[in-house]
Amino acid sequence: MEIAIVAHDAKKKEMLEFIKKNRDILSAEGISLIGTGTTGSMAEDAGFTVRRMLSGPLGGDAQIAGRVAEGKTEMVLFFKDPLGKHPHEPDINMLLRVCDVHNVPLATNEASAQLLLNAIKANFLIKE
Ligand code: PGA
Repeated sequence: MEIAIVAHDAKKKEMLEFIKKNRDILSAEGISLIGTGTTGSMAEDAGFTVRRMLSGPLGGDAQIAGRVAEGKTEMVLFFKDPLGKHPHEPDINMLLRVCDVHNVPLATNEASAQLLLNAIKANFLIKE
């Protein structure tokens, strides 16, 4: 299962802590990570293997939206900054919309992201 991680600048620290806290599931066999440029390299620095797209403002969110539409990315964890303005707002909204069009699980904050990962963990446990 391919999971996308994206974090706006104000949320990058939170994302880093989140992925470290969930390293067991995010590094599990059968899970692969994809991320926007800076979020992806931050995760790589923390020891994760990440397929890196362009940085968000340069089209990275759009690239991930494309993979969601193609059925390649099956979950999106997008730590959005609700207080800031972003030059690539149209791309951000497109990614959210494409997730809804294709019924792909999308979390836009840490609490929701944790619930999604807990669901994957529970599913893994049941299968074992
Ligand atoms: P970044 O992109 O990971 O390259 O910072 C995220 C975004 O701003 O959408």
